[in-house]
Amino acid sequence: MLRIKFGFIAAVLVALITTLPAVAHDNHATYLGNEGVMVQRGEAKILFDPLYNQNFGAYLLVPQDIRDALMAGKAPYDNIDIVFISHAHGDHFAPAPMLAFMHAHENTRLVASQQAVDALKAIAGDEDASLFARITPLTLNPKDAPISFNIGGVAIEAVRIPHAGGPRQGNIQNYVYRVALDDQTRVMHFGDADPAEKFFGPLHSFWQTKRTRLAMLPYWFFDSEEGHKIMDEHLNADHYIGVHVPTDSKAFQQKHPEADLFTNPGETRPLD
Ligand SMILES: [Zn+2]
Ligand SMILES: [Zn+2]
Repeated sequence: MLRIKFGFIAAVLVALITTLPAVAHDNHATYLGNEGVMVQRGEAKILFDPLYNQNFGAYLLVPQDIRDALMAGKAPYDNIDIVFISHAHGDHFAPAPMLAFMHAHENTRLVASQQAVDALKAIAGDEDASLFARITPLTLNPKDAPISFNIGGVAIEAVRIPHAGGPRQGNIQNYVYRVALDDQTRVMHFGDADPAEKFFGPLHSFWQTKRTRLAMLPYWFFDSEEGHKIMDEHLNADHYIGVHVPTDSKAFQQKHPEADLFTNPGETRPLD
């Protein structure tokens, strides 16, 4: 009798284990809008450029239902460990919703350019002071070596790469992040980086130290010879995907059928 029971339990265990691959899909990137992406590995979740109000009439805003779920901490947009801000432009970051988000989510940390943190401080009241202990401002100069640090179990590297568009962008601080939730789940986010060899070539050995599963690049990398060279020779990623794709992207997509693009909020890519 005991033997039969044991056999039954063993069979149930085998059945459970064989259904595990479904759980593995917990490792993925979910598109939010413009350059907003959520990356998760099981329970660990991070966000890039999730809260912004500006679309310049050309880019996707995060749909209201996703934004509401983010603010309310509703699954799957719940329990965010870290938010990363690439730079303080209105199509990537808005201080008011970001401050509200940090209030509503007391365990979430924020990593952002000093300019973005200054914008938060400018609207923060006295009651917000303690919240800044959960914020890491980045103060790198152009050409500074990348920095690395850990928050919880998340390994973070950041390097400042100039914003696309040259001098007319002034001194906006644009950050590229390489973030690892574990050794397999390593992603890169580039903000509005300039696809110029002169900025990426000198960092060749930095990119080569670690293989990245998914690199999320502004779509203009796919429309530039130098951008392709940077992907092919330097960045060392398994897969490249375009973000910041204009809503009217038909011509671009016809010209670059090879480019994988995030264009529909809520769509995902696996990170297994
Ligand atoms: Zn920008
Ligand atoms: Zn932008």
